[in-house]
Amino acid sequence: MSSDHLIKREIGEGSSRGGGSTSGGGVGGVLIPASGSQPPPPAPPQLSRYESQKRRDWNTFGQYLKNQRPPVALSHCNYSHVLDFLRYLDQFGKTKVHLQGCVFYGHPDPAGPCTCPLRQAWGSLDALIGRLRAAYEENGGSPEMNPFASGAIRVFLREIRDSQAKARGIPYKKKKKKRIVKTNEETSNFRMQQS
Ligand SMILES: [Zn+2]
Repeated sequence: MSSDHLIKREIGEGSSRGGGSTSGGGVGGVLIPASGSQPPPPAPPQLSRYESQKRRDWNTFGQYLKNQRPPVALSHCNYSHVLDFLRYLDQFGKTKVHLQGCVFYGHPDPAGPCTCPLRQAWGSLDALIGRLRAAYEENGGSPEMNPFASGAIRVFLREIRDSQAKARGIPYKKKKKKRIVKTNEETSNFRMQQS
């Protein structure tokens, strides 16, 4: 290993010695002054999580409009398409939202399974609308026509928030980090009650 290192060093020394004077030229060339007047160079296409999510959402929405029969042009898109899109997304939701007849309605920690549907959580939809709203204007849409900024969307989201808060027993105003851990709860008891 040490001999290998030696050989390399000898080669390196030899080449630099023979290299002559031309290799070191050009030092006096263009120097960019380091003053702070210039904005930083645009970031390489490494998108932040928010930006890439926004782009994904925008593509998903565009695809959704294309898949309508007949397809909906973005210029003809209004808030009702957006509301339909939000309802359509519910089938991919992962949040259990209890129906009024369910025994777990209003319980934040259900003690067992139930057949209530999985939905998109209000918080996800709210964030999604925010991203799409920004994306719409970044893609040439005018703020006045922005369907994602419509009052109908706001009302819709508020209703979802309130109904999910009731169904899940979770007030959305304050999210408590610390929860009281229930230790004596056994989920197996639930099955016995069913017979
Ligand atoms: Zn339920």
